[in-house]
Amino acid sequence: MLARLILTTALPVLLFAQNPAPLPPHSAVEPPAAEKAISITESTTASPKDLLTLAETSGFTETGRYAESLALYRKFAAASPLAKLVTLGSTPEGREMVMLIASKDRAFTPEAAAKTGKPVVLIQNGVHGGEIAGKDATAMLLRDLLVTKRLASLLDNAIILSIPVFNVDGHERFSPYNRINQNGPKEMGWRATSQRLNLNRDYMKADAPEMRVWLAMYTKWLPDLLVDNHVTDGEDHQYDITYGMATGPEAAPTISEWSRDKFLPKLLQSMESDGHVVAPYGSLEDPINGYRGTPFPPRFSNGYAAIQNRAGLLVETHSLKTFRTRIWAHYDLMRHALTLLGGLHLAVAQADKDVASMAGSELKVHLNGVISKEGEAFDYKGIGQQQQQSALTRGFYTVYFDAPINTSMMLYNQIETTVAAQIPAAYVIPRQWTTLIELLRLHGVVTERLDRDMQLSTTASRLLNPKWDDRPFEGHHRVEFRVERHDEPRTFPAGSVLVRMQQRAGRVALNLLEPEAPDSAVQWGMLDGIFEQNEYASPYILEPLAQSMEMQHDDLRMAYQKRLREDPAFASDAQAKLRWWYERSPYAEKDLYLYPVFILTAAPAKR
Ligand SMILES: [Zn+2]
Repeated sequence: MLARLILTTALPVLLFAQNPAPLPPHSAVEPPAAEKAISITESTTASPKDLLTLAETSGFTETGRYAESLALYRKFAAASPLAKLVTLGSTPEGREMVMLIASKDRAFTPEAAAKTGKPVVLIQNGVHGGEIAGKDATAMLLRDLLVTKRLASLLDNAIILSIPVFNVDGHERFSPYNRINQNGPKEMGWRATSQRLNLNRDYMKADAPEMRVWLAMYTKWLPDLLVDNHVTDGEDHQYDITYGMATGPEAAPTISEWSRDKFLPKLLQSMESDGHVVAPYGSLEDPINGYRGTPFPPRFSNGYAAIQNRAGLLVETHSLKTFRTRIWAHYDLMRHALTLLGGLHLAVAQADKDVASMAGSELKVHLNGVISKEGEAFDYKGIGQQQQQSALTRGFYTVYFDAPINTSMMLYNQIETTVAAQIPAAYVIPRQWTTLIELLRLHGVVTERLDRDMQLSTTASRLLNPKWDDRPFEGHHRVEFRVERHDEPRTFPAGSVLVRMQQRAGRVALNLLEPEAPDSAVQWGMLDGIFEQNEYASPYILEPLAQSMEMQHDDLRMAYQKRLREDPAFASDAQAKLRWWYERSPYAEKDLYLYPVFILTAAPAKR
């Protein structure tokens, strides 16, 4: 194995005989109120000894392993009749995935929850296993709801579902070296799953077994609000917490209105009065371009909740603030959010109705967008910085110094739609496209089977000029193409799948099935077979075929001559010319490039 030995010793990582001490990055400025962090200090003080987290007993320098979360959640469920711990499934490495349900009415099923008329809030942590302050904050909050009962009244108006860690395998890949940008804890988990997938790009394509477990739960409960706790990377600034939430065309109008006008203004006010420094999630590359948000298509949690007609709140505490500051920020945000749910349940019910009623109408629904050029004045709370040249690499890099600096600039974070589509009356999918059909069902889209062969008037699509990304992204080579549509009658065999779009999951089906949607199954490369030609012929076969077609068909001959006159590149390419004749012959593959999802302008009557 000499060759291999030489190869591995050439890797620079082995130059470290011992691992270097992990970097201690830290923010130049902490919010002044973080010193006392009153809310979590009170929570710790009130807690029985055996329910303290390792985060608390270590002075917020460490976080517990997954076993600690399981033990704490079991104790909460044992201590309170208002809590139940359920197993959701297991991870690829065989770990149990759990969720705690907390309900004053002991409504531990989606059906029982619906009867209470209360909104359901799903809190999830550790989607990225190392971004873990939310896990500790949530454990403290649940303790205050269920055991010390200091915050028991929060259960008067909501049913809470809590996932201590979503990416459990990633969380257990514990190391001091997993998060180079993060200021503690001493050791933490890893971003991706054990299959190297990023769960927060996987909501639509659902490759990860963990995501399939989550979707089965989510589509049953359909929680009114999803709180997804993360930790940022990126620049230093004064903000200890930032958030992302659909407030524009990305969500149903009643959900965007509730989030934008009812929920967020009060949430920000409450957080600021506690001493938190809050901003929308974004980044500042150049003050001239302003502080900029980013679109969240449904591959992300908050974008996914939006297309399910639900509110979704992405929470990002700041990686350079202390671990304690981050726990304090997550804790306060959840504590306040749970008091601000008035009107949400009605907005959700209305959104479900509105989406269903759009089937077959002229109205268009947002599928993709960019950050709008329309901005608003913004007081950016930054930190003093200067560019420094490196003696080592001669490159320039930012050095922060501990001076808060506020700058007036523009904030750009509204979404402007670039791709939209009407919700058709129905789609039909021939039964053999099983991956697509199973994916629809996993997302809670209601489908039915044709009970007999049926001829239907359809709009069919061809996806032409496919171009794949050079490198994989989240386990796929994504593909782009041009869409050409035409109307045609088609016969579908019994067993083909009909998707009537007069249903609450209409936006989900639209986002999976419209080929222009950024998270459609076909753009993720899940239907690549449609782009591959199966049969080929050599010129010695094709030449006689083309020549006899040219002799027999005047219309083809004229079309061919027209193409020769108009397209010099074609005229000088013998292979392209043969392909032209082949494509018009009876041997051509009729379903090459044909998208196996057909639009119906009228759904067949129910029998
Ligand atoms: Zn994250």
